[in-house]
Amino acid sequence: MKENLLGLDADGLARFFEALGEKPFRARQVLRWIHQLGESDFAAMSDLSRALRDKLAQSACVQAPQLVGDTPAEDGTRKWLVKVDGANAVESVFIPETGRATLCVSSQAGCVLDCSFCATGKQGFNRNLTTAEIIGQLWVANRELGNPSRAQRIISNVVFMGMGEPMLNLDNVIPALRLMLDDNAYGLSRRRVTVSTSGVVPGMDRLRDECPVALAVSLHAANDRLRDELVPINRKYPLRELAAACNRYLEKAPRDFVTFEYVMLEGVNDSEAHAREAAALAKRVRCKYNLIPFNPFGQSGYRRSSPERIRRFAEILQRAGITVTTRKTRGDDIAAACGQLAGEVADRTRRSRSLPLKEVRP
Ligand code: SAH
Ligand code: SF4
Repeated sequence: MKENLLGLDADGLARFFEALGEKPFRARQVLRWIHQLGESDFAAMSDLSRALRDKLAQSACVQAPQLVGDTPAEDGTRKWLVKVDGANAVESVFIPETGRATLCVSSQAGCVLDCSFCATGKQGFNRNLTTAEIIGQLWVANRELGNPSRAQRIISNVVFMGMGEPMLNLDNVIPALRLMLDDNAYGLSRRRVTVSTSGVVPGMDRLRDECPVALAVSLHAANDRLRDELVPINRKYPLRELAAACNRYLEKAPRDFVTFEYVMLEGVNDSEAHAREAAALAKRVRCKYNLIPFNPFGQSGYRRSSPERIRRFAEILQRAGITVTTRKTRGDDIAAACGQLAGEVADRTRRSRSLPLKEVRP
């Protein structure tokens, strides 16, 4: 089978060219063609010899996942449905704002973790995305936006807040992150690439050691009893361990805070007492809070907190000296808002077989 060069980071490409008996600097040239210029045809890579181009055409390919849906929202948000195989499609969301534009990418087809308020969790889990499928979302987005070449690009930030739990697929997420950061590829700064986790502690430690980028943690409750219910992985890694992992991460993080995401669920986690618990946690971990008004879907059984409740919750945190932002809901008319992504996930039974914790280094 041909090697898909889209999914190889600088080291992977260097190994590939070495195995072909070529000089290592070829890797850098090809990296630039693919990721800086958006080129997928070896024949067009004009600074490679004809012989090498022919050799590449025989042994390799640059294969991006196929775009099968493009839904624009009224506010400029766009949701892309990206087919990754015959049975699975994942979603990426493009969110333009003044002064920046963010791409929200998926890391898995489905998710095993089953948080009670999340549409992706309700879909079950099929499989991890490959590095090519993860970086391919950014590659395809740049192409669709009509600016495949880096000089004209508008995507300035990437967040791993689409489908899946990135910390359970680090073998593929880390090379994709390296490509995002690589100056010969996308050249984004570590502060502009954010990985969001529901709190998979061993994954947080591995990311810290191998490729620290900005970190968001989906907190949603600052007491174990409630968090056990909302975010079931809390039963395995309770708040005390999660807070310690955040502090270890901060030693290497490109930003000096962790972002705690907190979905506002009416009558569930949005009281003044909950806000005071959240404020107490901030005394132990340097953090900012990002309040996310719950985005309803199907039969979730939850309702969004009222603006007044959200305002009051934010005020309690602010009075305690904590920076708080309330996320503006984007793209909810096209089910592209946080937690509404469902894509098309085949074989939804796979979640029950095993938690794929082997993806995480022990
Ligand atoms: N698995 C990772 C990243 C994907 S989810 C994680 O959980 O962090 C991205 C964010 O959307 C998380 O903070 C998640 O808790 C939140 N979210 C999930 N469902 C939501 C919903 N229905 N409304 C609002 N936010 C939701
Ligand atoms: Fe998975 Fe994140 Fe959804 Fe939880 S919130 S089910 S970890 S995608």
